[in-house]
Amino acid sequence: MKFFYLSSEPNESGKFEIHERECENIPDLLDREYLGPYNNGNEALRKALDLNPEAITCDNCCVSSFQAIFKKNKID
Ligand SMILES: [Zn+2]
Repeated sequence: MKFFYLSSEPNESGKFEIHERECENIPDLLDREYLGPYNNGNEALRKALDLNPEAITCDNCCVSSFQAIFKKNKID
């Protein structure tokens, strides 16, 4: 389980990013809302969309292992 937070400040695209607690891009304490513990970013997104329809997952901390492998292969 990881602990996820929803940003209360929109990014450049007007979307609200979901971050894992350890993410280096996570907003300050006052600019985020605690979502709860989830297995991955997609589960956190399901909850976040109830709170904010503009929620999206963070590219830095919410990519699945499958996507991470795919990206790595693409670079090679
Ligand atoms: Zn993040």
